[in-house]
Amino acid sequence: MDIQTLLGHIQSYNPQADSARIRRAYDLAFAAHTGQMRSTGDPYITHCLEVTGILADMYLDEDTLIAALLHDVPEDTKVPLETIRSEFGDAVAKMVDGVTKLSGLRLGMEQTQAETLRKMFMAMAEEIRVVMIKLADRLHNMRTLYARPPEKQRKIARETMEIFAPLANRLGMYNIRRELEDLSLKHLEPDKFKEIEDLLADDKDDQQAYIQQAMTIVRERLAQEEIVPRYIGGRPKHIYSIYNKMVRKGRDFDQIYDIRAIRVIVENMRDCYVVLGIIHSLWTPIPGEFDDYIAKPKENLYQSLHTAVIGPAGKPMEVQIRTEDMHELAEFGIAAHWRYKEPGTKHDPAFEEKINWVRQVMEFRKDITDARVFVDSLKTDVFQDQVYAFTPKGDIIEMAMGATPIDFAYNVHTEVGNRCRGAKVNGKIVPLDYRLKTGDRVEVLTTKKGGPSRDWLNPSLGLVRTARAREKIRYYFKHQEREQAIAEGRALLEKELHKLGYDQRNLEELAKFFNYRAVDEFLEAIGHEDLSMQSVSVRLLEAERVKTPAVETPPPPPVLPKAPESTLTVAGVDNLLQQVAHCCNPLPGDQVIGYITRGRGITIHRRDCKNIVNVDTERERLIAIDWGKTDEKVYPVLVQVRAFDRAGLVHDISGIVMAEHVNMTSTSAVAGRKDRIAVITAMLEISSAAQLTRILNKIDRLPNVIEARRVTGSD
Ligand code: MN
Repeated sequence: MDIQTLLGHIQSYNPQADSARIRRAYDLAFAAHTGQMRSTGDPYITHCLEVTGILADMYLDEDTLIAALLHDVPEDTKVPLETIRSEFGDAVAKMVDGVTKLSGLRLGMEQTQAETLRKMFMAMAEEIRVVMIKLADRLHNMRTLYARPPEKQRKIARETMEIFAPLANRLGMYNIRRELEDLSLKHLEPDKFKEIEDLLADDKDDQQAYIQQAMTIVRERLAQEEIVPRYIGGRPKHIYSIYNKMVRKGRDFDQIYDIRAIRVIVENMRDCYVVLGIIHSLWTPIPGEFDDYIAKPKENLYQSLHTAVIGPAGKPMEVQIRTEDMHELAEFGIAAHWRYKEPGTKHDPAFEEKINWVRQVMEFRKDITDARVFVDSLKTDVFQDQVYAFTPKGDIIEMAMGATPIDFAYNVHTEVGNRCRGAKVNGKIVPLDYRLKTGDRVEVLTTKKGGPSRDWLNPSLGLVRTARAREKIRYYFKHQEREQAIAEGRALLEKELHKLGYDQRNLEELAKFFNYRAVDEFLEAIGHEDLSMQSVSVRLLEAERVKTPAVETPPPPPVLPKAPESTLTVAGVDNLLQQVAHCCNPLPGDQVIGYITRGRGITIHRRDCKNIVNVDTERERLIAIDWGKTDEKVYPVLVQVRAFDRAGLVHDISGIVMAEHVNMTSTSAVAGRKDRIAVITAMLEISSAAQLTRILNKIDRLPNVIEARRVTGSD
């Protein structure tokens, strides 16, 4: 394209355009970019002309076209923005500045991309034409992408697919979106793109004949009904849309309706429905393929009737029916608003209102300052079509299309979401998988207590559709799982402490002992089995020999004046073993103290044994005791088992004890009469703490056993 052709084209749709002014903008751009080249080898000015040409094809206004010609000037040349302002005025300067700010960002990194998008939406809120120029700029860069290095191609193509094509869709600029998507696909999936292109080419003659035939049939019937269509024709192929249907929906090429598609444009809305009726009388409609976007426009303002029928020769065919205004909007979207209108034609006031509404949505997004949060909310919510529902008070809740009452509830408040059990929409109870529609008035029915159901996260049930609600539900369960682990950990620990005769242990001290900052963390670790009960027991039993946590220590043990030199080491002194006190049966590792008896030598008690604690008159008989090395020594431990009585129980217990090569020096069993609970007491010769916990755990798991525990003096 050259400037003369461009000026001629502009004059053809806008005779009032100031050609001299546009020419001056071109001259400025030409001079500023002199010497700069595109990667295609063309002079840079070709890019400015092409971008402006894309916008002129959309019949855009003079200022937008001038800004497009100058869009790269401040960024790439020495000509400052002020020159543009003084030459072409504020409106043009503002647009050029907006485009410059958007392009100034290096794209690619995720954070930068997020930032770009955020700025784009802000620019859009202020001046939507900035975004139109940016989209035209991107479109021309995509058309010349072949000249860039391969890795750049992929990167730019992906970015276009992820950001610019959805943005064009959001603004209803279908013609731009279609081309951006096809060009991106060509670079992202070259093989697949070629395959579809070839399929379309092979089919081309058949298709053209088919569409001609269908159009003739329609035209004849319309004439009978005295309807004069403004246009009947095929519609441009959208390879990406075909690709989507083949790859994502797994349809065969032949099963894609819009490969054969016709478009009928009529004078007014009434005729749209008349034509629809005629089409459905000519051919059988395919169930589920009819969409009335006239009654319910898409959020990007798109209006049209869509249907698919079994057309001539039994082949499926898509038909789109709309008015010229609707068509203009369908192709150009928001850009239609700035199209040159003949003097005296008024803008549609409803359209003005919708534009304002789009602005407000964009304004609202300005509040989000974190670019990442912003881009997340965009990707999941804005780039899908939106649905706007109301609370009973009339507050508007904006959600992604397909949102359910649960999504709505979580949008209102997390607690409302967690306690949601049902919903009324426009006064009627609806199921929880109901898809909300714009304008729905939603009343969430809540329960007083309780939380979400795990089913809500099951995607196949379709109960929750927005990222925000899913995140909140996940958080709830994560939190709840923690609470549950803590409760389970507490139960396990208490049971084990009881089993080992440590009922009085302080949990905070224990948590610290195991290097946890808080009791909850300690209990959670046990509950999640990150910390096994077995290792807890062993370490506790063994630790007693080194140090007893302060809280567990009974009143300060009596100390003999000559304590240091009178400490007895028990290990290796065989005869002392027989003097282990029967009242508390201390175990190696337990903190102990000796009591010098009259005539029977020293008996060893646990320090917390009540017989020792209660010694008050004969404190001089107490003596500090150290277990010393305990290897290969055995110590009597009294174990008590409570169980629902059954035959062979004692035999099973003996079996476990014998398997550990432990002697059982005495056993007694008492069977309850009424409750059939047997209490079996056994004295075991234990060699280590680990061995004791192992035996207790094994007995615990025997059928009918209620509990197996060590009996100590504190019982
Ligand atoms: Mn550019």
